[in-house]
Amino acid sequence: MVFIGVDLGGTLIKAGLVTDKGEILKKETAPTPVEEGFEGVVKAIIRLVENLLKNSQVTKEDVKGVGVGAPGTCSRQGLVYFAPNLFWKEAPLADRLKECWDWNIYIENDATVAALAESAIGATKEAQNSVFITLGTGVGGGLIINGQIYNGSYGMGSEIGHMIIGENSYDCTCGNNGCLETFASATALVKYTGKLLEEKQESLILEMVNNNMDLLNAKLIFDCAKAGDSTALIAVKRLIKYLAIGMGNIISVLDPEIIAIGGGMSKAGDFLLEQLKREVPKYIYDKNRFFCKITFAQLENDAGIIGSALYAKWRGSLLE
Ligand SMILES: [Zn+2]
Repeated sequence: MVFIGVDLGGTLIKAGLVTDKGEILKKETAPTPVEEGFEGVVKAIIRLVENLLKNSQVTKEDVKGVGVGAPGTCSRQGLVYFAPNLFWKEAPLADRLKECWDWNIYIENDATVAALAESAIGATKEAQNSVFITLGTGVGGGLIINGQIYNGSYGMGSEIGHMIIGENSYDCTCGNNGCLETFASATALVKYTGKLLEEKQESLILEMVNNNMDLLNAKLIFDCAKAGDSTALIAVKRLIKYLAIGMGNIISVLDPEIIAIGGGMSKAGDFLLEQLKREVPKYIYDKNRFFCKITFAQLENDAGIIGSALYAKWRGSLLE
């Protein structure tokens, strides 16, 4: 059995042909033409998937369903309610794709499908209750409860990045102030470091970017922190503190067996993981009973494609 998984991001669309075991047979990538609006992005998805099929041995009849992981909240019927990075509100993605294809089409939040992929064949596969957090431009989250995806009663749940955990100097893309995303994303780290550097004459960071703040990025800040630069260490420490508060809150509410961290910033490696492991237990209720494992996700960039395909498989199985 083959499913198509589409990982729709703010920068790239990735599509793959995936077996029912979560193996990718073939994948292709194209830029997301955000500036062309909903219709332009839909056409880009269709082009990419048609190309993917054309360049493979798989026929349209072999495909048992299509899953799309979208960067926002989604209804069970395939409406993308709110995707600020794409500037979409109430976008009827499944209906529009159904006009072109006879397959069953299912839409779900991108971090939720990534959580499903990690739970099926990745870092959290032994757990019944797990949480996936992605640290990138934003902060996304996916929940697996009792072995199944959980995204709330109305599809509005698991928005871990929009838990409000403090007051911040800038507002979130969602319009609120104090969201975890504004403390613990790559964007947040760059903004906060930039603020610290305004009052600083000397820092390894300034040397590395040659005083050009446009070159500042999360990887460089983490590298400077690892090298012992005091400004970078202050910024990274703040990120870890707030991320740990967010994770402590998740543990207090859900008590998961494991939390897996993915996304570009997870590349910071053990330097990030070891500090998180020390920090998170400070923010739970019973500090003598800290059971939750904290680890890195395993599927990296493929989690979205695999998870979307497995989501289509799961939704399809409910019809049988
Ligand atoms: Zn927010």
